[in-house]
Order: sequence, then structure tokens, then C-alpha cells
Amino acid sequence: MAVRNVRVKRIASIFIAIIGLTLCRTNVFGWGAAGHQVIAAEAYQQFSPEMKAQVFEALKAHPDFAKWTNAYRANANFDLAAYVFMRSSTWPDEIRRKGNQYDHPNWHFIDYPLRPPAFPFEPDAKPNDNVLFGIAQSEQVLSDTNANSELRAASLSWLVHLIGDEHQPLHCESLFTDAYPNGDKGGNDFYVKPNQAAVRLHGIWDGLLGSSANPRTQWNYAIELETAFPRKSLPELYKHKNPKEWSLESRELAIEKGYLHGELKGGMNQETAVSLPEDYTKNAKAVAEHQAALAGYRLADEIQQFLKMGSVVPLLPEITNVAVQVATRKIGVLEAKNYYNEAVIVTGKVVQVSTRPTITFISIDQTGPTAPFSTVIFPENSSKFGDVQWLKEHDVEISGTIQEYRNKPEIILDSPDQIKIVGANAGTAKHPNQN
Ligand SMILES: [Zn+2]
Repeated sequence: MAVRNVRVKRIASIFIAIIGLTLCRTNVFGWGAAGHQVIAAEAYQQFSPEMKAQVFEALKAHPDFAKWTNAYRANANFDLAAYVFMRSSTWPDEIRRKGNQYDHPNWHFIDYPLRPPAFPFEPDAKPNDNVLFGIAQSEQVLSDTNANSELRAASLSWLVHLIGDEHQPLHCESLFTDAYPNGDKGGNDFYVKPNQAAVRLHGIWDGLLGSSANPRTQWNYAIELETAFPRKSLPELYKHKNPKEWSLESRELAIEKGYLHGELKGGMNQETAVSLPEDYTKNAKAVAEHQAALAGYRLADEIQQFLKMGSVVPLLPEITNVAVQVATRKIGVLEAKNYYNEAVIVTGKVVQVSTRPTITFISIDQTGPTAPFSTVIFPENSSKFGDVQWLKEHDVEISGTIQEYRNKPEIILDSPDQIKIVGANAGTAKHPNQN
């Protein structure tokens, strides 16, 4: 098979994987992970040094704190505390319906019923299990300095997430029509075509704030949004002061911009999906960015108001990425599947090196199709490595970010620095090209 074919197939499969992810996300998640992180970054950028130290201190007790610090890559302009705060924003989606004790699957939304054409106001049917309830619960825990520290950390994560969710207009409604006698679940059962492909209306809105997996992108996007929408340009900040009012703002936006006052046509499945009006997505994106700006400021203000600390928290060192960063986690090949998208060091012995024109596999501990982990080098990088057959039988540490390829974890090597020889013969082991 030609090099290009493998690469194209590979890119195609990654693309399909991304689409797959997007589709399953649209069903249950709020803003995509990128959107939640943009809003968290905006809030963080609003914090005083005291507040930054306090949120970081509170999040140290979070069940995923070690995982986040391990995944952090040092960066002079983007410190660990900011990164951890942004990661905390997506955790309630990551634990959703997985049996986690902190999961609350219905906290992510509030189903105000929408009935065209008049859209008379109706309250949500589940006032004790919706986004407003979740925000109130989280704020109550954060203001109680005697509450369990892990619960406080989880509640902070929840608050960051839910203020984001409730600013996604389609998280504050369910459309009731003849076609949807039980509601369209926030546009999840309402299918439209932004281009050729049919998708859920809800998913379009969730994706409006981007899809980048790189938190740096979200950090920069947050700076752009706060520059475009300074506080004084947002009269809503002064008009609507509490989570209930914010959810009603979202409800109005869902009516106006989400369903175009009931004029928007959609289908009940992919086959009957209807093309979106030409400007729909562009207009929706403008709404989403405006909402994200509001959410960022409001989140900062809520945390300022509700997070109480039992004692004075010292300010973070100026360069927190150096001061607080912990060592990258070392794992065996069997654990790799638990660390997707995280930077780790995989340790083991090279048992086989197979070099083909299209790809090089360095097998660690196990070889063949059942091996739990792969290390690969693509031809465009192979000249940097030379012949890697010499690695065989050496104990190594492979550092890099775990990626998923055909449901299996792998690290793609693009630099020889990612391979470190360890063990008894580490000192004498040498690439044969080196003198
Ligand atoms: Zn959510």
C-alpha cells in the first residue's frame, strides 16, 4: 500500500472518530469541552491573585487533580493553576452516567417547555433536579468551609460547568409541538442540515465555541472574547443578576435564535432533516460568543461571592508552572488505555521493531494485534531517528501524549528525545550512528 493511502486512511479514520465523538457528545453534553474551557478561561482571567490562589487550593482536593497536573505541559504564558481550573470545567460531562458518586445527569439543563406560536411561559417540571438546583447546591457547599474538601472541589467543578451550560440557549428549553408531544429535549430530537449532513440542532449549538482539544487555543479565544465584549458593553450583566434570570435569557434566545420564533423547520430523524437557513449558523455563533462572554464574567462573580476558604491562602508563586508542576506519570503498557490525550511516560522493554515503508512500529513488552499499546513513527519523521532496530531488547521510557487509534492507545513519535534508554545497560546503549 502506498504511503499516501495509509496516511489518508488514517486521517479519514481520525476524522470519522472526531465526527463520532461530536455526534455522541451532542446528545448528552453541554457546550463541547472547548466551549466550557473558553468560559472557564474567561473567568480565570477575571480573578484577582487571591482568587486564583483560592480556586487552585480548593481544586487540590478534586478526585482528578493528580490526573490534570500530570497532563499539564509547562508553558510560560499559561500556568498550571489556569490549566487545572479549565480542566475542572469539563469534568461533570466526563463523569456523566458512569456511576460516579458526584454525577447528576439532570443538572446540566432546565426544560422550560416551549409551545409555539405564542410561547407562553411555563415553569420546568423538575425544580429539584435541574441546572438551577445544581448551581444552588454547588454554591451552598462552596460557602461552607466545614464541608468535605473533596465535595467542595467537586462542587467548584460543577459550578464552573453549570454556569456554562445554562448560557447555552438550548439547555434551557424543550420544544413541544404536534411532532414533539413529549418535547424535543433541547433540540436533541430536532434534526437539521447545516450543509449536506443531518445533525441534531442541539449539537450545532454545543459546537459553536470551537472544537480544539488544545487548552491554549481556548485561553487565547477567551482573551479575544473579553476584548470584544468588555463588561460595560453587556447591559445584561447589570439587568439580570441571578442564575434564574440567566436561564430565562437563554430561554428567550432559544425561541428567537434557536427556533426562529417557531419558524425553523426540522425533522424528527436524520432522513427527514431540513436544511438550515443560510445565515442561521453565523447568527447562532454570534449569540454563542455573546453568551460565552456573559457566562465568563458571571462565573467569576459567582465564585468571588460564594467560595469561602477556612484560612488565608498564600498567593501562588509567580511562575506556578515551575513551582507546582509534578513529574509526568510513568505507566506500563497495560495502563495506557486510561490516559487518552494525556502526556505520560510509558515504560517497558522493546520486544520488536518492525520497519515498513509506510510506518515503523516499536513494540513495547508485547507484539502483534493484541498488544495493548503501540509506538509508531511515520515516514516523514523517520530520517530523524535513523535505523531504530538497535532499540530491540532495551528497556525504554517513551514519553508523549497517548492518542487513540482504532480503539487502542498509541504514542506517535516525532522526535528521538521521546525515547530514553533505561536499565542496566543504559549508560552504554547508544545509537549506532552516534560516536
Ligand atoms: Zn453539561
